[in-house]
Amino acid sequence: MLHRYAQEMYDRYCRFCGTCEGKCPGDVAIADVMRYAMYFKYYGREKRSMELYAALPPRSRASTCDRCPGPCNTACPFGRRVRDELVEAHRLLSFAAA
Ligand code: SF4
Ligand code: SF4
Repeated sequence: MLHRYAQEMYDRYCRFCGTCEGKCPGDVAIADVMRYAMYFKYYGREKRSMELYAALPPRSRASTCDRCPGPCNTACPFGRRVRDELVEAHRLLSFAAA
C-alpha cells in the first residue's frame, strides 16, 4: 500500500530542487514559488505566503507563466506539470503582490 501511495504521489509534490529553473527563459524563482504555494495550500499560512511572494523581485514571480509554452515542464526530473502549478500558484499568491 505504501509503495502504491508513493507511486501515486510521485509527481504531486515539489522537491524544491531548482532543476527546472535552468530552463526558464525568464528568471522565475520556481522552487520558492512552489514553496510559498505549499505554505498557502497546506500549512494554513495564507497571509505569510502572500507576503513572501510579494517580496520576490517582480521578474521572479510567476506572472508571465500563463503566456509561456512552459519549457520548464520538460526539465522536472519528477515529471511535474511545472507551468500549470505556477499559474495556479500565481493566482493564489498574487493578491498581495499586484
Ligand atoms: S512557464 Fe515559462 S516563464 Fe514560467 S517558469 Fe516555466 S519556463 Fe519560466
Ligand atoms: S518542479 Fe520539479 S524540478 Fe522544479 S523545483 Fe520542483 S521538483 Fe525540482
